Amino acid sequence: MQSSNQPVARSDKLNGLRRAFWARAERLACFAMHHALKAKAKDQSADIAQRSALVLAPHADDETLGCGGVIALKRNAGTDVTVAVATDGSASHRHEIWSATTLDALIALRETETLTACKTLGVNTNDVRFLKQPDGDLAGDIAALTTAITTLLHATRPDDVFVCAERDGHPDHTALAQATHLALQDYAGYVRILEYPVWCFDFRSWRVQDMTNTKGFVAGVKDMLNTIRDWSMISVRTQSVLHLKKAALAAHQSQLGTYDPEPQWSGLPDTFTRHFLTKTEIFRLIAREDGNRK
Ligand SMILES: [Zn+2]
Repeated sequence: MQSSNQPVARSDKLNGLRRAFWARAERLACFAMHHALKAKAKDQSADIAQRSALVLAPHADDETLGCGGVIALKRNAGTDVTVAVATDGSASHRHEIWSATTLDALIALRETETLTACKTLGVNTNDVRFLKQPDGDLAGDIAALTTAITTLLHATRPDDVFVCAERDGHPDHTALAQATHLALQDYAGYVRILEYPVWCFDFRSWRVQDMTNTKGFVAGVKDMLNTIRDWSMISVRTQSVLHLKKAALAAHQSQLGTYDPEPQWSGLPDTFTRHFLTKTEIFRLIAREDGNRK
């Protein structure tokens, strides 16, 4: 019995080693990309706190992950910041075991977590909006999403618009970025458009499917290199408010696996959140201040 099990055990071990190897290679590629984007970024720390902002997040927690530091800097300076979360958060933990929470309770919980996070960053409750679009299906009605963003633009007249990166790889992130760019095409105001990468720092956003591990990895890295070359980047030093960003992120308990009533819910891994708990935030600059696309 022992001898007949040995080949299976050896093959499991080999597969485990292979998976660990590729997971490590992918994490390293993402950290290398992050460092390369940061290295080419122009420091814009001097004046960013004085510029009003509309922060558009596909999901509750993206606002904190992507630009929590900049939000805190702006609010510390008394600058207006409006945060809008596009989806209702209902798709979270869809395939996991639920012990004590209903779907309605999850939606309410994610709003509460967002309000707590935003309050920690200095944003007033009245300046946090929930668009309540279907989680996981933001692309289902781009026209309605674009209209909602246009309404927010006219209501807030921001100097800066922050939105997740179109290349984030998650369909909701791509849809929100596309709708934002559509809304801004017809917006006459002077505005600077800044994309904050979130899932760009997860290799699943780059790996080409239906290829072998090696070919898919190489193709993904080439795509990353082209992206690094093409993107105009700015950076902002956020070390002085990093403690606020950490506290704000901690408020998103349902997304971190720290929500006590649901001990089985998974959370974002440390290897991923590490990208965001840094001394510098980086953004892709899409448009100049005259509103013309670059
Ligand atoms: Zn998201």
